[in-house]
Amino acid sequence: MTVSLTFLGGAGTVTGSKYLVRHGGKALLVDCGLFQGYKLLRQRNWRPLPVAPHEIDAVLLTHAHLDHSGYLPLLARDGFGGPVFCTSGTRDLCAILLPDSGHLQEEEAAYLNRHHLSKHEPALPLYTRLDAQHSLALLRTQPAHTPFEPLPGWRATFTRAGHILGAASILLEVGGRRILFSGDLGRPDDLLMCAPDAPPAADTVLVESTYGDRSHPPGSVLDELGPPLARLAARGGVAVVPVFAVGRAQTVLHAIAQLKQRGDLPARLPVYLDSPMAVSTTELFEDHVGEHSLSRAELRAMARGTTLVHSVEESKALARLHGPRVILSASGMATGGRVLHHLALHAGDHRNMIVLTGHQAGGTRGARIANGEKSIRILGRDVEIRAEVVQLATASAHADGGQVLDWLRAMPAAPRRVYVVHGELPAADMLRQRIEYELHWPAEVPEHGDTVAL
Ligand SMILES: [Zn+2]
Repeated sequence: MTVSLTFLGGAGTVTGSKYLVRHGGKALLVDCGLFQGYKLLRQRNWRPLPVAPHEIDAVLLTHAHLDHSGYLPLLARDGFGGPVFCTSGTRDLCAILLPDSGHLQEEEAAYLNRHHLSKHEPALPLYTRLDAQHSLALLRTQPAHTPFEPLPGWRATFTRAGHILGAASILLEVGGRRILFSGDLGRPDDLLMCAPDAPPAADTVLVESTYGDRSHPPGSVLDELGPPLARLAARGGVAVVPVFAVGRAQTVLHAIAQLKQRGDLPARLPVYLDSPMAVSTTELFEDHVGEHSLSRAELRAMARGTTLVHSVEESKALARLHGPRVILSASGMATGGRVLHHLALHAGDHRNMIVLTGHQAGGTRGARIANGEKSIRILGRDVEIRAEVVQLATASAHADGGQVLDWLRAMPAAPRRVYVVHGELPAADMLRQRIEYELHWPAEVPEHGDTVAL
């Protein structure tokens, strides 16, 4: 009996990851991600899948980022009732991220309706917070390195991918085939996460290529963050750090704790984490010691040096403080969230600093700040940007092209074929070429909707 694989997302793009495996009348979905970014891609979220949700028997999740998990509430609402297997870290993060995603969908629909911006009257949310909460009941956790049966006669094993808390690669054994899904791969030198596990033997590999055409610059987050924050502390300024709730926020907090311990920053420099989601995520690191590279002592040092800001009142109170301080707040590209208030308040003073922690997608406020624009519209008014702007280049949570190749090279034997997924076309195709020329393995970049027999 054949095993077939259909690329329902994450082909030629970094979002919407969904890979459908069929065998013996059963169907299993690996990852269940939302399309994000360009409108052309986001519209795919509204089209029915080529398979009815109730015909899917089980789902496996590599990790909790919405481009891998964010379609689950919709799948469940529209008829999928099977088990969703993931690691406990992924389950805990999904419990934070999915309801928030539903909330944002509801807010967006309400905004469109208020301003009559949609051709649909009324505009509906893709799914609601309640849909997301219901879908969480389907999650079943499995430990890493322990094979389990997602469906009778099918075997799956999670190994650690080192990308974010709970992130896994998945080996799926079915119909005599061994299919390896890399998921998003972390880097071997990450400040927060352990290096990815070496991959197991497989005949088919789906490998991510987010940074397939790039090499990370040398150096560490500590080297990049230390000198600017020391300058800031000396001149008594405020650093505003836009962060995403998962990963980057914890990397920056841990880096600051280490810099204080080394004496590179004043131990008393106040640090505030002003994002309820980031606060919840940071607290999860305590529940998952051993799955990341932070010891309990390092977690304590991080907690001691950070004031967690929960309520809106506490957030507003930060404006009345004096003296140097660092404020981490969402969102990471300054497209929304509490960070806007902090930017509006502090961006106009040359003693202050804006620290951008990662890639800023085109069209976002973060990208305009990175490009050196002198005036930016925030919360309905034009704000002069006189603060020093610092952009971190080393805080990425993805392996670069060479690191992905090294990971593949560690496979016990050459696979029969590699499918290069989860990358924009230039990145995916560059990685494909390197796999063919440097490893001499057959590799291809699949197209959206392609089905292949394995
Ligand atoms: Zn990811």
